[in-house]
Amino acid sequence: MLELSFEPPVERIKLPAFTQNGVEVFMKRDDMIHPFISGNKWRKLNFVLEDARKLNKTHLVSFGGAYSNHLVALACAGAMYAFKTTAFIRGEEVNNPMLALCRLYGMTLIFVSREAYRNKQDIYAEFATSNPHTYFIDEGGKGELAAKGCEDILKLVDTGTFSHVVCAVGTGTTLAGLARAANKKNMIPEGICVLKGAEEMDKEIAVLSGFDIKVHHQFHRGGYAKTDAELLNFIKHFAQHTGILLDQVYTAKMMMAIEQLSEEKYYPAGSRILAIHTGGLLGMLSAI
Ligand SMILES: *Cc1c(COP(=O)(O)O)cnc(C)c1O
Repeated sequence: MLELSFEPPVERIKLPAFTQNGVEVFMKRDDMIHPFISGNKWRKLNFVLEDARKLNKTHLVSFGGAYSNHLVALACAGAMYAFKTTAFIRGEEVNNPMLALCRLYGMTLIFVSREAYRNKQDIYAEFATSNPHTYFIDEGGKGELAAKGCEDILKLVDTGTFSHVVCAVGTGTTLAGLARAANKKNMIPEGICVLKGAEEMDKEIAVLSGFDIKVHHQFHRGGYAKTDAELLNFIKHFAQHTGILLDQVYTAKMMMAIEQLSEEKYYPAGSRILAIHTGGLLGMLSAI
């Protein structure tokens, strides 16, 4: 449903840690797909919106935190394809530039307590009784149709070009879709988890993808959205060496992990690693 006007390029990333350790690292610039439906969020929403349209649903309802890339993407995509959008936001009422963007795109925001938020299905069920033609989209847009959309990330990548493909892991949906496509192209898929204590998620990813996939769990740097001086310095260093911006929640943690794994000689010499830039640059608004 979301037609891509171009397929984003793959760029070589030359950092000393890569050349010194005999690996080549490339980045697929899915962050370039759209400024607000960025990176993997475009892929994840593609078949979800198509499904909603097919079922004649006109009102998309979803969930997220106050700095959710998913909700901004949904608000924008909803506006593009004439869906009404409503989001339930976890926690007390706040305002920030990302929520302002959601509102600008016409999304209705409803704040719910952290306790109530745990029962998303109940919140949705109650909302749906008084609102016709609603369509439920889980937090972070996760699910089977979203994973299917993420298979397309490797659509134009030829077999034999890369040995590994790596992405950041939030819900794991992107990695699951990526892994299905990677398997067909003889690439080893790996994830860098940005949540603390999320080892249990590996099983869900295996179920969703149909494969056992290596997820690295030692690179969350204290937990979801946690930052530190070293991480912020890495973002500056990376920007100044490559011209590419990374966000502190997902993609910077992924690239730091690939750098460290290269230094530890985790990747065999000669590896050609494709890192997916899943976008999310608006997330930087939470760091300033
Ligand atoms: C949402 C997001 C992710 C996480 O994707 P999942 O499919 O939930 O694992 C990764 N990177 C960025 C930039 C994101 O916005």
